[in-house]
Amino acid sequence: FPVEDIRNFSIIAHVDHGKSTLADRLLELTGTIDKTQKNKQVLDKLQVERERGITVKAQTASLFYSFGGKQYLLNLIDTPGHVDFSYEVSRSLSACQGVLLVVDANEGIQAQTVANFFLAFEAQLSVIPVINKIDLKNADPERVGKQIEKVFDIPSEECIKISAKLGTNVDSVLQAVIERIPPPKVHRANPLKALVFDSTFDQYRGVVASIALFDGMLSKGDKIVSAHTKKTYEVNQVGILNPNEQPTHKLYAGQVGFLIAGMKDVTEAQIGDTLYLHNHPVEPLPGFKSAKPMVFAGVYPIDQSEYNNLKSAIEKLTLNDSSVTVHRDSSLALGAGWRLGFLGLLHMEVFNQRLEQEYNASVILTTPTVPYKAVLSSAKLIKEYKEKEITIINPAQFPDKSKVTEYLEPVVLGTVITPTEYTGKIMELCQARRAIQKNMTFIDENRVMLKYLFPLNEIVVDFYDSLKSLSSGYASFDYEDAGYQTADLIKMDILLNGNIVEELVTVVHREKAYTVGKSICERLKDSLPRQLFEIAVQAAIGSKVIARETVKAYRKNVLAKCYGGDITRKMKLLKRQAEGKKKLRKIGNIEIPKNAFIKVLKTQ
Ligand code: GDP
Ligand code: MG
Repeated sequence: FPVEDIRNFSIIAHVDHGKSTLADRLLELTGTIDKTQKNKQVLDKLQVERERGITVKAQTASLFYSFGGKQYLLNLIDTPGHVDFSYEVSRSLSACQGVLLVVDANEGIQAQTVANFFLAFEAQLSVIPVINKIDLKNADPERVGKQIEKVFDIPSEECIKISAKLGTNVDSVLQAVIERIPPPKVHRANPLKALVFDSTFDQYRGVVASIALFDGMLSKGDKIVSAHTKKTYEVNQVGILNPNEQPTHKLYAGQVGFLIAGMKDVTEAQIGDTLYLHNHPVEPLPGFKSAKPMVFAGVYPIDQSEYNNLKSAIEKLTLNDSSVTVHRDSSLALGAGWRLGFLGLLHMEVFNQRLEQEYNASVILTTPTVPYKAVLSSAKLIKEYKEKEITIINPAQFPDKSKVTEYLEPVVLGTVITPTEYTGKIMELCQARRAIQKNMTFIDENRVMLKYLFPLNEIVVDFYDSLKSLSSGYASFDYEDAGYQTADLIKMDILLNGNIVEELVTVVHREKAYTVGKSICERLKDSLPRQLFEIAVQAAIGSKVIARETVKAYRKNVLAKCYGGDITRKMKLLKRQAEGKKKLRKIGNIEIPKNAFIKVLKTQ
């Protein structure tokens, strides 16, 4: 294929606006997949993707399309649709020259539409707005066209109005791809320069990397080098994705496809890496950075006898997802486990769900935390820690104020789009989460876009759910990384009759200490069995108690319920009580069942 006849593009959209459905129609129209099959989100291969309707791993497909008497090669490069994966989105976009920006004709522009548009805009791609679902009864494509003009400065006449579900007008989308997106700017005569924009692990063949060729060509048998690791590999197989792998003899600059070269795990083919021919080094493509985990959580087997199973499941899953960081950890309460780092909350949930569904592992996931930083105050300390700033991913490592000039917390720039009637309530919610308003724009008469700077830890647990419930599901939210800010952080202890429970130590913002402390005390009180003496459950900062709950003395008599009834029932109850008390941990003279810890530590 001559370069002029190639187009590389991607589809971006807010979740559920119809990206996968449009991809199915494009695949059908170009004969890539058969229309008679039940084509529902063909590119979403993982079970969690189908269930949650999101794309976790990007998939790519090469489409052949005849237009104006000419054959074109259209490479559809799928991107993960969610902000957690925004680094991967921007890498996929760098293999494209244009995007289809899909917007639901009923819902209009949503937060993720805005975030995705700016990723494409910053990458200087041609943006083709596509208004989808015009078949819906409440569709208002005119209004959405005006929103697009207002927010993105794209003339509303440029919008293509379609129904991906029914296939209406989808062929004009393909024509627009050919007419409005430029062919890739590449040099086939130069030595190979290829971008890795995705990679997956296959048990039998090792790593399968998705690549885009910027310069030169690539054949089976070539010796290639990773600019990131400097390791050399021999190419075993190259080909196009159709959307299944179809081996070819060569790949040429301007094309995208797959590569298998004996790489053993995905860290050897990291997203954003540049590949070149052995002995022909090239300037690597800009922007390689390792994905940075922003949310950490402890993962423990429910039963320690399952430790080895869980270990192998985590190993297998991380082979496929190098953005998850893994550290061994252990907790007095929960036993041996791991502390895992994720790109964001959705990434964490998806990982957990895959552990359960694909590997049948049942796990305890602890409440997520964010990576705080502490700037050390003396040269001596810097020498001791070998760093000026230490990152604290575990509250147990929180350095005392006396060692620190300041603490820092990660912040994000959040976008909320909502019908105007919920604006007041949403502003209250944002304020309660210590957010600072940066901007407010009306995108039409009854919709407003709010921009806030949020401390990341204020949104990792239940912000999204609160936002959805106070707006009856109508507000949408998205965010991007905005660095670190100074934070007034303190370490909070939880005490039982004056003894510290080490596994419940938390790092909190001073303003939030009371609320968080009270909630932990309440949950602990509710899950501690009553004993023969009273128990004081306290949250304290240093020696100052800030919250207290009391577990009254009372020995629960399980037999009382039976009214002297049948004996087997009594025995069952006694047995159950004994099981519930297994694996007790003693703090002072108080026995804590494992379940109590799970209830306090687990994600709500
Ligand atoms: P994605 O999250 O952007 O990939 O969205 P999907 O393609 O999974 O679509 C989300 C939902 O919208 C699915 O239930 C689709 O059947 C539905 N949908 C997609 N396109 C249309 C359309 O043109 N009209 C209607 N009525 N529904 C559509
Ligand atoms: Mg989808």
